[in-house]
This record gives sequence, structure tokens and C-alpha cells, in this order.
Amino acid sequence: VIGFLGYTGYTIYLLRTPSEQEEVDASKKTLVILGTGWGAVSLLKKLDTENYNVIVISPRNFFLFTPLLPSCTTGTIEHRSIMEPIRNILRHKKAQVKYYEAEATKIDHQKKVVYINDDSEIKGDTSSTEVPYDMLVVGVGAENATFGIPGVREHSCFLKEVADAQRIRKRIMDCVETASFKDQSPEERKRLLHMVVVGGGPTGVEFAGELQDFFEQDLKKWVPEIVDNFHVTLIEALPNVLPMFSKQLIDYTENAFKEESITIKTKTMVKNVTDKTIEAEFTRPDGTKEKEVIPYGLLVWATGNTLRPVVKDLMSQIPAQKDSRRGLAVNEYLVVNGTENIWAVGDCAIANYAPTAQVASQEGAFLARLFNSLAKTETINAELAKLSAEQAKATSDERTRILNNIKALQRQLRRVKQIGPFEYSHQGSLAYIGHDKAVADITWLSGNIASGGTITYWFWKSAYVNMCFSTRNRALVLLDWVKSYIFGRDVSR
Ligand code: NAD
Repeated sequence: VIGFLGYTGYTIYLLRTPSEQEEVDASKKTLVILGTGWGAVSLLKKLDTENYNVIVISPRNFFLFTPLLPSCTTGTIEHRSIMEPIRNILRHKKAQVKYYEAEATKIDHQKKVVYINDDSEIKGDTSSTEVPYDMLVVGVGAENATFGIPGVREHSCFLKEVADAQRIRKRIMDCVETASFKDQSPEERKRLLHMVVVGGGPTGVEFAGELQDFFEQDLKKWVPEIVDNFHVTLIEALPNVLPMFSKQLIDYTENAFKEESITIKTKTMVKNVTDKTIEAEFTRPDGTKEKEVIPYGLLVWATGNTLRPVVKDLMSQIPAQKDSRRGLAVNEYLVVNGTENIWAVGDCAIANYAPTAQVASQEGAFLARLFNSLAKTETINAELAKLSAEQAKATSDERTRILNNIKALQRQLRRVKQIGPFEYSHQGSLAYIGHDKAVADITWLSGNIASGGTITYWFWKSAYVNMCFSTRNRALVLLDWVKSYIFGRDVSR
């Protein structure tokens, strides 16, 4: 409690309004940051904004704590509890940061310009323009991969943004209420209550677990007529779910799902989606294929990431990116290969790590340290150049003073921390699997601890509450948990 109050007090103490911040200074370099996700926000958090003219561009004017997004699909957590307004983040900075709510549509690497477009509902006279930069950080993330499978975009729900979670939440209740409609046929009722998740990565697994919880803890009680037909199925093309977890946790998850009555269909690849059915292909142990048509009411598509068009376009302008397929290839300082003044962080960059929040946030923090140190070095070097010029013209008395100043600056320069290449430190992986159980692969003293169950679930809860962006977010998430525990989840559409 003391820690919580202390932290809250400190946060309030740090609050500034934009009028109290240092003004934009045209003599400084312009640093443009694209995105307000894990990479961009962790960079902003640690960046000394007084060293640059910082401009943030993103169509989303908030940071979203994505690890808890699956909980928003069933109303365990309200989406606003995991959103932090970007304006709130920026007002804590010492110098003003400009924010434009817009999508970057093109980066002209030669001209050093970003073209932006305001795609919000309300538009002013100007809705597209360009922003020049000296330094650019691309942290635009990725979009949902569909692998060109017909019908996926039209008929399924993704789980990346707040709007996706809201859509799923509505759709679950729509399916439940339509299935309960008078004179609904038994087949149609069964179809409507078949909730299918495609993709057995952490997103698919966590959502399937949350949905089954919703059914067991609330829906079953409030809408008893759906009890016999409500069913969750998880479809995965590979032989098992959660490939990034250790074998024992994969087995643990698959067994837990069996106990929770969630069906897992592995080695099953979805090939086509219509408005009411999924066509999939199952690979038998002898390698032969079997076609299957699966009727569904809700389809959640969680098969990972693909490149955004703006990133693809940038890559096409840079010959050094020719062989890169999964994202912007970067060097050990996160500089985009083939450029000198563009850096990339998070899911749009490839630095040999999985596209996770943990990687993105460490990359963002690294860039902040790098930029802070670059700025300090540049300031000291500029002072040194000025003093050297003065020294050449000075009288012998003045020379001694100038020499002393030069020596002091050189000492300062040596003290500026030299930043080594980016190194990722993997803390582990965590996933909620439903029924108050979670799995965790934690890196500990160069070893690995694998654990699964209810204690791990409490660890998962406390780790995620701690990782929430702000004290406000933490308090809201805790309240949401208490609220849904006491009153149940809200089953309105
Ligand atoms: P993912 O890439 O981890 O998993 C997608 C799965 O979909 C794969 O296993 C793939 O085999 C399967 N798939 C692809 N096409 C298919 C098809 N046509 N039919 C059936 N299955 C198909 O995706 P994700 O879960 O969205 O995660 C994306 C990234 O974010 C990953 O790096 C993940 O580690 C990270 N993440 C981590 C957490 C966590 O640690 N709790 C949570 C969410 C996401």
C-alpha cells in the first residue's frame, strides 16, 4: 500500500501541462516516431525530448496494453482500463512533443519525408500532408496475416486492436441471443454456438481460455438454454499449440483444454472460409489429407503477423532490404539496413527475435539510451569545436582558461556512456489458458523454469498488473477483476 501510494504521489508530482514544457526549437534535429505501440512508447518514456524536436505520428492516440486484450473480448476487463492516452504520456516530458493522429502512408527515404493521412471520421480542410525528418523511428507494428485465404477478411474477427475485442464481444452475445431465438432449428443453434479460433499461438490459446471461462462462469447461468450446444474449438496447422513453450507446458495446455471441454484440432489447416463454414484440411498420421467442413457462429483468426503496406513500400525503395521478407532488416543498433537515419523497432523490424511486446519494449528503451547519448556527445563536440576556434584567436592569458574548459569537456565526453549494440534479454513467456490456470516459461539464472497451474495464474496476474503502463491502468484492471468476480461479466451486447 505504501509503495502504491508513493508511486501515485510521484506520478502526480511529475504531471506537467504542455504550457509548462520547453518550446519546440527549430535549431534541433527533428526526430519523427511512427507508432504508439510497445516500441515507440517505450522509446518515448525514456527519451530526453529536450534534445530533439520530437514528432509522434500514429492513427491510434493511445497506448494499448495488448497482453490483456483477450480479457476484453469477454468483458473480464473493460478496454479503457488497458488504454493510456498518448497525450497523457507526452505531457510528462520535459520538452514539448508534437503528436499527429494520422497514418503514415509512405516514407520517402531519399527526400527524408513521411506522408501522412488523417483517416479519422472527422476531417478538416487538410487531411493529408507531409512531415520532413532528420531521424526517423519506424514502430508501426504489423497487420494480421491471412495468407490470402479466401473469406478470412470478410468473415472473421481479428484480435489486435480495441475495436477487434469490442467486435468479438458483440458477436459472442449476438450468437448467443440468435441461437436462443424462438423456433431456431437445432442445427442452426449448434452452428451459432460453435466458437472457432484459428491459430494455436498465445493469442488463440488465451482467447479460447477466456471464452470458455465466460461460458462456464456467466453465460451458462444467465442463458441456460445454450448449455448443450456452446462449444469452443481451436484449430492449429502444426502438430501442437504454443510452439514457443517447452514440451511439458504444451502437453499441460492440451490436457487442460481437454478438461475444460475445448476441442483442439491440430495438423488442421484452414483453406477457405464462408459466412457460415470453415473448410479445413487435416493431415492424417500416414500423411494423407482429409477435408472437413466446420460450421461456425464466431470465427476468431489469430494466425500471426504480416507486413504493413507502408513498411513493404519502404523496403522496396532500399536495395539492401531486397532479401528481407518478414520485416525491415536492421543492424545491431536497430538502424534499418541501407539507411543511416532510419531505425526500426517492434513487429515491423527483424532483429532475430520473435515479434513480442517484450522485444519491442526493450528495443524502444535501447533507442532512447542511444539517442540520449548521441545528443550529449553532439552537444559536447559542438562546444569543443567552438572553444578550439576561440583558442586559435585568443591571447595567451585567455588560452589557459580555454584550455582548462576544453579539458573539462573532454572529461565529460569520456563520461558519456558509450552504448554497445542492442542485446535482448529474454525474461520468459507467459500465457493464460483458462480455468484460472496459466503457463510460464521463465528464464532464471541462465536456466529455464517451466510451470503451469493456478499458482502460475496468480503469477501471471501480478506480472501483468505490474507491467501495466500507469498506476491508473493498474488500479482500473484490479477493479475490473474484482467487479467481474463479484457481479459476473456484463452479458449485454
Ligand atoms: P503466432 O504466430 O504465435 O501463432 C499463429 C499460429 O497460427 C501458428 O502456430 C500457425 O501454425 C497457425 N496457423 C497459421 N495459418 C493457419 C491456418 N491456415 N490454419 C490453421 N492454423 C494456422 O501468432 P499469435 O498468437 O498472434 O502471436 C503473434 C506474436 O505475438 C508471437 O510472436 C507471440 O509469441 C506473441 N504473443 C505473445 C503472447 C504471450 O507471450 N502471452 C501473447 C500474444 C502474442
